[in-house]
Amino acid sequence: MEVTVRCHQCDSALPLRPDAESAQIDCGRCGQAFLLSFSDAVRADRQVDRCPVCRGGDFYLRKDFDPKLGVTIVVIGALISAGFYWFGLDLVAYGILAAATLIDLAIYSRLSDLTVCYRCHAEFRGAYERTAGAFDLHTADLLEPEYERQVGKR
Ligand SMILES: [Zn+2]
Ligand SMILES: [Zn+2]
Repeated sequence: MEVTVRCHQCDSALPLRPDAESAQIDCGRCGQAFLLSFSDAVRADRQVDRCPVCRGGDFYLRKDFDPKLGVTIVVIGALISAGFYWFGLDLVAYGILAAATLIDLAIYSRLSDLTVCYRCHAEFRGAYERTAGAFDLHTADLLEPEYERQVGKR
């Protein structure tokens, strides 16, 4: 599987593949060092059972979706649609707007889930079995400050 470490100092995404039991990586932008410890299940792409960054065991699932892409499609659709509306072709305009929304939905439903760590926001992509639940704000409120204290951000 691919693990994306989220730098807590500068918010950089640091993707890597676990091939050893432990590894040290340095953030390319701010130089923050991360000591990673991969469980057997993570290395074998079986299951995300323990986070290699913060050693936490609490995860949630979300769609592997870049929100910027979705917004771009809707904005482009709205611009083209506004052009047709200007020329009095409002039915065409509404059609294009509806099409842009449908394309967005189609992309969204075809996306696979990825697992995210509640504490440090590390992301896990791969063929492993999805066992985490949906995002829960209450859990995030409890666990995020725990990690921030751990890395000295609070
Ligand atoms: Zn950084
Ligand atoms: Zn973590």
